[in-house]
Amino acid sequence: MRPEILFPLFAPISTLKGVGPKVEPLVERVAGPLVRDVLFLGPQSLIHRTPTTADRVVDGQVQTLIVEVVQHTRPMRREQPWKVKTFDGTAFLTLIWFKGHGDHLTRALPVGEKRVVSGKVERRGSEIQMAHPDYILPVERAAEIPEEEAVYPATAGLAARNVRKLALEALSRAPELVEWQDPAWRKREGFVGWREALELYHNPRTEADLSPASPHRRRLAFDELLAHQLALAQRKAARRSHPGAIVPAGEMAGRIEAALPWKLTGAQIRALSEVRGDMQSGERMSRLLHGDVGAGKTIVAMLAMADAADARMQSALMAPTEILARQHFETVAAPLEAQGVRVILLTGRDKGGVRAEKLMALMDGTAQVAVGTHALFQDDVKFRDLGLTVIDEQHRFGVNERKRLQAKGESAHLLAMSATPIPRTLELTVFGDLDVSRLDEKPPGRTPVATRAVPSPRMGEIVERLKQAVKDGAQAFWICPMVTESETVDLAAAEKRAETLRKVMGAPVGLVHGQMPAAEKDAVMAEFAEGRLPLLVATTVVEVGVNVPNATIMVIEQAERFGLAQLHQLRGRVGRGRRESACVLLYDPPLSDTAQQRLDILRKTDDGFLIAEKDLELRGGGDPLGLKQSGFPAYRLADPAAHRELIAAAADDARLILARDPDLSSPRGQAVRVLQELFDWKPAGLTDAG
Ligand code: ADP
Ligand code: MG
Repeated sequence: MRPEILFPLFAPISTLKGVGPKVEPLVERVAGPLVRDVLFLGPQSLIHRTPTTADRVVDGQVQTLIVEVVQHTRPMRREQPWKVKTFDGTAFLTLIWFKGHGDHLTRALPVGEKRVVSGKVERRGSEIQMAHPDYILPVERAAEIPEEEAVYPATAGLAARNVRKLALEALSRAPELVEWQDPAWRKREGFVGWREALELYHNPRTEADLSPASPHRRRLAFDELLAHQLALAQRKAARRSHPGAIVPAGEMAGRIEAALPWKLTGAQIRALSEVRGDMQSGERMSRLLHGDVGAGKTIVAMLAMADAADARMQSALMAPTEILARQHFETVAAPLEAQGVRVILLTGRDKGGVRAEKLMALMDGTAQVAVGTHALFQDDVKFRDLGLTVIDEQHRFGVNERKRLQAKGESAHLLAMSATPIPRTLELTVFGDLDVSRLDEKPPGRTPVATRAVPSPRMGEIVERLKQAVKDGAQAFWICPMVTESETVDLAAAEKRAETLRKVMGAPVGLVHGQMPAAEKDAVMAEFAEGRLPLLVATTVVEVGVNVPNATIMVIEQAERFGLAQLHQLRGRVGRGRRESACVLLYDPPLSDTAQQRLDILRKTDDGFLIAEKDLELRGGGDPLGLKQSGFPAYRLADPAAHRELIAAAADDARLILARDPDLSSPRGQAVRVLQELFDWKPAGLTDAG
């Protein structure tokens, strides 16, 4: 139940002054549907409207002047501006409008009267101009023009200044709330109270007030992080309370391991023993196997599945695409079947009798391992005794999909796998409701991918080399970026690239992109994987994790536009075989300093976690790692990069709060409940409390 004190903030935005049916969708786009959403929308920058006189204006700055209207000059032709000459006793200032607002302008600026005007001033030859002033007011209303104006996010049809008005109204509805933060912590950090922090948030006076490092912004960020960590901790606790299947470490895994042509890495051994610890604990495992591409996650999962099979339980391994499912099947089927375990592959392609036979085998338990896609959690798929669920590229699945698969085994353990390199500092925010095993060591004997940054004017040379390499039997990826807002424009660019390459190379060139039907995409990918296509042009949608050992060249166009982590993932698709691989980062010069540093990092290291950490340092706010696609929470007040040292503190605090007061019934617990309601976190964790 939402406490009554929060009702004003959870009212719809239409209750704000001036938000009618036309404006409402615009406000919703900028902020969200609730007054609370407008309240949390902060200013992004400040305009300093310095009062000045016409003889002292600074070119290019926003300034405020008191002037007397001298003369209107109407445009003679359409394309000419409307000009209003004014004088302030020191010099002339010309106000300019490019679209004639005739009547309105003569009314607002009668000749001979004084007005206060504010806007960006520019010198054009001998003329001092202000085009489209932000404010024109009678002198007695000059106080309405703020000297420091906070600028809010705007959208077409909704001006920043109107957003500010709404934000201030939302602020006026924000109640005083009982403090939920620990008093000692609050004192140590120099935090003001919640209400006061919001006041400061919406009324910045200096650039420092806008900085994420300012105490009021840190306070609000901590509130949000704490609310999120509490939700994650509660979820974790709820799941722990479920009994899990007892799966002892069996001998089969040892036999499989002994038959492998190489030894497990230290990290794999550690991860496996953590998984085994969980599977024997009597509680349901919820563990994330987190490792860079090529770290060897599949083998760890396979050995856990062998344990399950030894204990006469079934396991399911689910991958987001048909082609990945097929690859996993090819990896795990032979070693397991050599031990007498029947492994089946179940995808959307299985129909009729074949599918019915496979479903029967899962139902009666003759098949102990199922590898597949979404097809695995269809309603008619039933397991006799599901003990372990493995989900690869877990962020590619929705919560409901994961839940449906888990529902097929009440006490089944969950092992999720992810190759998204997330810096350790941020791990808690993404995987806070899971236990994490990190594969931070790559199997030995890999030659790093030779990585070069090449300016795009030299693309011709690269294409020539590619042509030669393809003649020698190599396969290559060519990645086109998502540059514009419009997918059709990007798609057209990718199609054009495929077309030119086809001509130049004199070889077949495949194309995959985000708007293709999945089956078609899979078909092209399969053609490439089977070596029938030498070159594959793709937008960034190419499946992470696709294993094409023969592919040795990766060309990325406009590499400067990608996140580092994303570039690393793309590069990870080559260098999987024994042959030397190369990655070419094409960029449009000139590179900014940061872009240069980013490409340098990539050239120098192959460690995904290090790259992610560096990326975070370099890029700061926004969505530094492209994490939104990887299940990363969309914080409103916290900035994961700037506030990263608050994340661990919030996680500790959340744990402590729940350890002392699991039902949140103490006075602080009550306040904490209000905090949780305020943020309304429904984190996209791996499973729901059930
Ligand atoms: P990912 O973590 O990206 O899913 P995979 O499990 O697909 O990685 O493994 C990548 C490749 O490395 C596979 O070809 C696999 O056989 C190989 N591999 C896994 N573990 C080892 C190891 N300990 N030593 C050598 N090669 C290994
Ligand atoms: Mg993998």
